[in-house]
Amino acid sequence: MRIEHIGIATESIEKSLGFWRDALGLELVHTEEVAEQKVRVAMLPLGEPRIELLEATSDDSPIAKFLQKRGAGVHHIAVRVDDIHATLERLKAQGARLIDESPRRGADDCLIAFVHPATAGGVLLELVQHEDDTE
Ligand code: ZN
Repeated sequence: MRIEHIGIATESIEKSLGFWRDALGLELVHTEEVAEQKVRVAMLPLGEPRIELLEATSDDSPIAKFLQKRGAGVHHIAVRVDDIHATLERLKAQGARLIDESPRRGADDCLIAFVHPATAGGVLLELVQHEDDTE
């Protein structure tokens, strides 16, 4: 397992790029709207992991709710796993609280699942499996 990305909730991706891309010098390689999660996503590699900037596309987006409650900042940490189904089974067996009982489609065509922060010491954890890792 390794860190796949760090998700950061922003009021505006455009404004946040002023820091992450323009001031710090990271390269913006990918932007995408994930309709199912009501977010717009921008990916900036930082070594192998990436910074994932998140912007709500609707008022009932999880990111909009997060911003209302906590303001902009680190939203989740994503860990890349080889077999997301096996990892979910393992966590379930260990009594972990899961937001997603089964994987769903995330940005970049990956399979993702969120683990509840209550389980991971206040950290919202995202599991990510890349398509090219299947089979
Ligand atoms: Zn993420």
